[in-house]
Amino acid sequence: MIPYGRQDINEDDIEAVIKVLHSDFLTQGPAVPHFEHEIAQICQVQCATAVTNATSALHLCCLALDLGPGDWLWTSPITFVASANCALYCGARVDFVDIDPKTYTLCPQALEEKLIQADKEGRLPKIVVPVHFAGQSCDMVAIHALSQRYGFKIIEDAAHAIGATYQQQPVGNCRYSDACIFSFHPVKIITSGEGGMIVTNSESLHDRVNLLRSHGITRQEQLMTEPSHGPWYYQQIALGYNCRMTDIQAALGTSQLSRLEQFLDSRRYYVARYNQALHQLPLITPYLKPGNESAWHLYVVRVPTVRQEVFNNLRQKKIGVNVHYIPVHLQPYYRQLGFYPGQFPEAEQYYEEAVTLPLFAAMTEKEQDEVIAACKQILG
Ligand SMILES: *Cc1c(COP(=O)(O)O)cnc(C)c1O
Repeated sequence: MIPYGRQDINEDDIEAVIKVLHSDFLTQGPAVPHFEHEIAQICQVQCATAVTNATSALHLCCLALDLGPGDWLWTSPITFVASANCALYCGARVDFVDIDPKTYTLCPQALEEKLIQADKEGRLPKIVVPVHFAGQSCDMVAIHALSQRYGFKIIEDAAHAIGATYQQQPVGNCRYSDACIFSFHPVKIITSGEGGMIVTNSESLHDRVNLLRSHGITRQEQLMTEPSHGPWYYQQIALGYNCRMTDIQAALGTSQLSRLEQFLDSRRYYVARYNQALHQLPLITPYLKPGNESAWHLYVVRVPTVRQEVFNNLRQKKIGVNVHYIPVHLQPYYRQLGFYPGQFPEAEQYYEEAVTLPLFAAMTEKEQDEVIAACKQILG
């Protein structure tokens, strides 16, 4: 089976991990701040905090932005469930904004309409989480302008988008957001096994997520309620968690990051090849908005009416196609919260037609040719 995505680990990655295993630190040590620094550099952003995964990155950002009971978080229904669950962890409520039918990212017009209505009803969101679906940035200028007018915070879910650019600037520079998060799950652009990162230009948000990452414990005397008892002393001043990344993961992440451009080039190459080979078939290839450069985490085609047949046929031919994503509001857990089919028609229509074709940096032309030949045979 050709998978839809897979990591690319080389000898340098393995050596980087072994080096840490021989060192004094296994959990958070010097490799973690080094990885954070490298990520901040490529994103052109002030601060970075490495955490266990992108799910905890979202959770800690929500907590740091004081999301709690009585508050709302809005996100896209076409995302992984984590983009919405982070609000529920904080006791807040979730709602969704329908997608743009071309880019499959959160639609700014739909957001504006929903904000106008919510404003009347006194239930404006505290946080909006735009998801850079498949690696393409959302329309951040439009979303940011609405945040200024309606007073919500923005956490960019860039789990798919490390290395992508928006208006010739790196995704993660937080020019139009309060924070941005990345995932280093093996299927994403670069991996640390499991891992996530929070980037921000806000010192106070950075301090807060750092505190929450490690139990809410501080060793900084200026944050304590009384003078230190001695060099051993620390105080717990908030309810935090253990979301620390290990040095083992950070070393792998840093090593992978050094090949980011190579990974992106490879993905772009295979995307161009897919576009060229598939454009005459009765399917819709991905749309990239002018000014955007995608990290190409996913290559999603839309196959109107015959998606099921095409999907089953490809799987039979040992092509590991997938579907990203089942709209979050249609998950049983969300249905039980009151969501129902028909609420977000663009997302639901997209879901009926979407197929993710295999795409990963280490794929071969031969593998891709197999996928293309299978598509042509089924749809040609
Ligand atoms: C993968 C993913 C996450 C969660 O990432 P983890 O690192 O696995 O926790 C969040 N949001 C989106 C859009 C994702 O694809």
